[in-house]
Amino acid sequence: MKRNVLIIGAGGVAHVAAHKCAQNNKLLGDIHIASRTLAKCQAIIDSIHEKGSLQSPGRLQAHQLDAMDIEATKFLIRATHSQIVINVGSPFLNMSVLAACIETGAAYLDTAIHEDPAKVCEAPPWYGNYEWKRRQACKDARVTAVLGAGFDPGVVNAYARFALDTYFDDVESIDIIDINAGNHGRYFATNFDPEINFREFTSTVWSWEQNQWRANSMFERRQDWNMPVTGMSTTYLTGHDELHSMSQNLGVPNIRFWMSFSEHYINVFTVLNSLGLLSEKPVRTAKGVEIVPLEVVKAVLPDPASLAPAYTGKTCIGDLIRGTRGGQAQQVLIYNSCDHEECFEEVGSQAISYTAGVPAVAAAMLIAKGSWDIGEMANVEELDPVPFIESMNRMGLVTRIQDAHGDRILRPRQESIYEPKPRMLVNY
Ligand code: NDP
Repeated sequence: MKRNVLIIGAGGVAHVAAHKCAQNNKLLGDIHIASRTLAKCQAIIDSIHEKGSLQSPGRLQAHQLDAMDIEATKFLIRATHSQIVINVGSPFLNMSVLAACIETGAAYLDTAIHEDPAKVCEAPPWYGNYEWKRRQACKDARVTAVLGAGFDPGVVNAYARFALDTYFDDVESIDIIDINAGNHGRYFATNFDPEINFREFTSTVWSWEQNQWRANSMFERRQDWNMPVTGMSTTYLTGHDELHSMSQNLGVPNIRFWMSFSEHYINVFTVLNSLGLLSEKPVRTAKGVEIVPLEVVKAVLPDPASLAPAYTGKTCIGDLIRGTRGGQAQQVLIYNSCDHEECFEEVGSQAISYTAGVPAVAAAMLIAKGSWDIGEMANVEELDPVPFIESMNRMGLVTRIQDAHGDRILRPRQESIYEPKPRMLVNY
């Protein structure tokens, strides 16, 4: 059993994670929120009290922290007796926070891959450039580190693993489809940190095809999907974190990520990008001031968390998996749909933050209970997906499946219409 959680970051995802930790504080214990700006941590605590999210009376505390400072992070982990760290700060912090966890013995989890501010779209597999280099250190210290435990990456990795274990003999392709059919009513905004959002799209789009990396450029490959809830949706092939672990762990020849974009988003993005305003490389102004254009764009765009009150519509994110079973072609879509307004009603957030924050806390609860407390580093698809999907079904992120038997809630232990099949992968 592990108790007491330190949440790092106080943005949109941290807001949801803190509410969900509060809703489960009998299991998780004390909740500490630490970020660069103390007032943002305190605002989250105020909102938890306002919504009455605490399951039982307990400690909720805000801390100012520069999480790039490993010694300060270690000090805070020890001072708060936190045994689980949920890192939902900027992806630039991952390696520092992970180091602090390895040195203090706290379990680590995050929702996005580490990034170096000076580089974009590095050589694949991305995890090999940073996190996986600390695999042995985690093992030696018996530290649990669960990487990419948001929705995508995170839940979509678990969906793939569950499908492979349950419905297929061979899988030919996994297409991860991420549709946001919501409307925030602003001229232009990104749904999470604009800097991170744009960095995903300004360089090479890596996908896994025919068992090798394939490079495309952004908006080069378009695909329309008829999705449940959101209907016919236009997507573009996009590079994304989960491809970089699933390609190495699942033995599936084709894994692609498709994200929906409106024409308006593409137009604005194209103008900004063509002008050089999305560059991560510093430029010098006529006054001799050095600035990073991307940081300026971030500073002038709406804070993603501020979109929540006016956001309407739904998301639909899932895995379309194709392969064979018993010699027959088989296709399943495992997905979740989330309503922006319902998320706001429950915790005061929009659905993109909600779909990332809930899984992080579901994962923390599995670490607290022990079933995911494996004492080493893992990506989500290496862990048992069953308790993860079950927990999220109870926490507001309900999984559905669409296959030859129709469309239904996916209750992992009740998929008895399928003959039981030996686990394809044995590492849990
Ligand atoms: P935000 O930009 O809203 O929040 C990031 C937070 O990190 C801010 O509170 C920021 O502080 C804080 N921070 C930045 N630098 C430091 C530092 N040196 N020390 C301490 N705190 C710092 O991002 P989101 O909440 O939207 O996203 C959080 C994470 O979740 C990101 O890694 C993002 O990529 C990931 N994500 C994952 C998804 C998934 O499905 N897997 C989906 C959406 C997001 P300040 O407020 O002072 O700037």
